Amino acid sequence: MKTNQNYKKLAESYLFSTIAKKVNEYAKNNPDKKIIRLGIGDVTKPLCKSVVEAMQKAVAEMGTQEGFRGYGPEQGYDFLKEKIQKYYKKRNVNLKLDEIFISDGAKSDLGNILDIFSKENIVLIPDPVYPVYVDTNTMQDRKIIFLEANQQNCFLPMPKDEIKADIVYLCSPNNPTGAVYNKIQLEKWVEWAKKNNAIILFDAAYECFISDDSLPKSIFEIKGAENCAIEFCSLSKTAGFTGTRCGYTIVKENLIFDEMSLNKMWLRRQTTKFNGVPYIVQRGAEAVFSEQGQKEIYENINYYKENAKIIAETLKKHNIWFTGGVHSPYIWLKCPNNMTSWEFFDFLLEKAAIVGTPGAGFGKNGEGFFRLTSFNTNENTKEAMERLNKIL
Ligand code: PLP
Repeated sequence: MKTNQNYKKLAESYLFSTIAKKVNEYAKNNPDKKIIRLGIGDVTKPLCKSVVEAMQKAVAEMGTQEGFRGYGPEQGYDFLKEKIQKYYKKRNVNLKLDEIFISDGAKSDLGNILDIFSKENIVLIPDPVYPVYVDTNTMQDRKIIFLEANQQNCFLPMPKDEIKADIVYLCSPNNPTGAVYNKIQLEKWVEWAKKNNAIILFDAAYECFISDDSLPKSIFEIKGAENCAIEFCSLSKTAGFTGTRCGYTIVKENLIFDEMSLNKMWLRRQTTKFNGVPYIVQRGAEAVFSEQGQKEIYENINYYKENAKIIAETLKKHNIWFTGGVHSPYIWLKCPNNMTSWEFFDFLLEKAAIVGTPGAGFGKNGEGFFRLTSFNTNENTKEAMERLNKIL
């Protein structure tokens, strides 16, 4: 038996284990200090009432003879797909029900989608980046070219004629940088993809944080994207489903490459390797799209956004360069006084008992930058910023 040797090429991720080690040591040496964590990439607010009630109702239904459901459709129940269809319709994006695939989250689909692409494809990935794109391609031995995201392009890299690739990952609003592409920028990407017969894998996991209607929440708001893009979305950050698990992937019917329909290939892949998201979870997800559900989830989203604003205002006061913080739960800042990412991490921890995430952990262009997140309480965020004011 031989193993997949590509796993040897995966970069060991020391980021979160090193952070945990440093924080534990600090806590041991400073038992009286309250540590404030602004490095969390997970939501902290509980599921909203509408979701909980919908799931409770579904559990009760499952315990009755008439209401019991076994295997469901692999690509999700129509009741949920119809709500997603309506959600997109509000932004003038027309989707057929067969173009919506319910998943157990964006991460799985972002990795699984590679099943339908040849290993010979060249992949274009921004740096810094959500590490899943790099690792899933490395596991399959695809050639990766990095796209330079930096302060000059405000961490929103644009296509160039000389870049030749088959698959490109775009994430907007971005993790880790919080940067958001505007319509004109995404139009340029669609144009590039069509010219190069390439596909855009568009990660819209943070779309709900966009509050400016002129900014696209979906790649399908861009004309022509239906022929060159797949969109991945998630209820994780939208509705606190990080532990509940539900997302959706949009593969349009007219997405044809190599004379093959990617929609049909993805359906074949999913019906072969996936048995669907639990009925109970899909009922909870359905409630997210109800009028009341939307009201409730936006209370949480706005709560996080208020935290982001508090952080952003503090950074502005100190003339620290940053992206994000407006249409995103993330704030990506340039470390003051030319500190490296890890020097700033140590500085914040030792002087203010604040924990963030060193940008260097997201790629080589992340060096010298730092990610703060809004997934904490208003009180803690305010306290952290007061501490920051004192040490900057
Ligand atoms: N895409 C990005 C950019 C993310 O940051 C995350 C989670 O942090 C995901 C996808 C994964 O989302 P899910 O919880 O739906 O798997």
